[in-house]
Amino acid sequence: MKFNDQKQMSRREMLKVAGLAGLAGVASVTGLAAAEPAKAEGEPQLPQVPRRVLGKTGQKVPILLMGMAMKFDNKFEPKFAEAMRFGVNNFDAADCYAGGTSESALGNFVDRTGKRKEMWITTKSCDHSPAGVERLVNQSFERLKTDYVDLMFLHGLKDEKFLSPEMAQMADKLKKAGKIRFFGFSCHDGTGAQLLTKAATLPWIDAIMFKYNFRDYGNQELNDAMDACHKSNIGLIAMKTQGSAVSFDDRVKKFEGEKFNRAQAVLKAVWADERIAAAVSHMDTLEKMKQNIAAALDQTPIAAADQARLQQYAAATEDLYCAGCDHICGQELPAGLQVGNTLRFLMYHDSYRDPEKARELFAKLPAEARQLAGVDFSAASAVCPRHINIAKHMERASHVLA
Ligand code: SF4
Repeated sequence: MKFNDQKQMSRREMLKVAGLAGLAGVASVTGLAAAEPAKAEGEPQLPQVPRRVLGKTGQKVPILLMGMAMKFDNKFEPKFAEAMRFGVNNFDAADCYAGGTSESALGNFVDRTGKRKEMWITTKSCDHSPAGVERLVNQSFERLKTDYVDLMFLHGLKDEKFLSPEMAQMADKLKKAGKIRFFGFSCHDGTGAQLLTKAATLPWIDAIMFKYNFRDYGNQELNDAMDACHKSNIGLIAMKTQGSAVSFDDRVKKFEGEKFNRAQAVLKAVWADERIAAAVSHMDTLEKMKQNIAAALDQTPIAAADQARLQQYAAATEDLYCAGCDHICGQELPAGLQVGNTLRFLMYHDSYRDPEKARELFAKLPAEARQLAGVDFSAASAVCPRHINIAKHMERASHVLA
């Protein structure tokens, strides 16, 4: 349901969507049409999403964070206002999201509401050189209409060589100048465990956002790396929690939880891990936001039966989920192909239902990464730990993403 459709939403639908949040949740749904984020005088206190301490930052953050990798209303984005009403005041931006427009939309929200001090803004630098980080944080200030960010990440880090002494000096410089409060990195490909292990030895890394979902429970290497970070008091934020598939296959739809739907159950499963401070979520519709907030507000832990169902679901759809470990299948392919990224964009197309973004990102890959025709993927499939039929998905990617 799009925001503009909300007036057509019946009370029965509101109750259904907000049922987990109780009466206060229903009250919030009725308030969604409000264009202004300010709470009206006398309005009852809405339930607030629980908070956890983000590692060595010592700061309490909501367990649900607002993902910003999408286009927003540049004049006034109601989702920002609605999120804040429930205590979801932590916004996860990046210099490159939606071509920089998601930062600008958040900046306009900051400007219009004057609520900067009530917000936590994370942004990221796609440039992993120290000078690049400094340049991009200044660019972010202009877009975000602020003179500091709470957390600065190196975006989509793949190689630990960028966690250098020079980068430590830059992080320190930016902190001392009051431009950033905390520093870390995000990562979402197959080198995540290696990067987390390295970070656990670096006192200047405050927080990490990494790909973690119900499909990773048996991943011993990643779990060991998470333990090491937790011991070093690095704040851990989970992303890609939905473990979304790269396909529309019927198996993808089949999860049935006892109390929570699939999107809620996977969040509850991540929050059940005490090493995780928060999960960032791609809440691109108000319906998704309501369901996510409802799951966060509901104090009931995920039932063992639902955990078991998630594991069954993970097993049944294993070959439809790419872990982004290109270093494995890439060895069997012509140089330059990017299977992990291509399948991630296919996931944006299929699971996130965002074909525009998927095509935009695919178009930005180097030409050699987009040369999918005529490639024999059989050897790559044979070594894939998830037994993904790479040829089949690449064939479709060449049609829907090109
Ligand atoms: S296709 Fe398989 S080996 Fe290649 S990145 Fe995805 S999960 Fe890893």
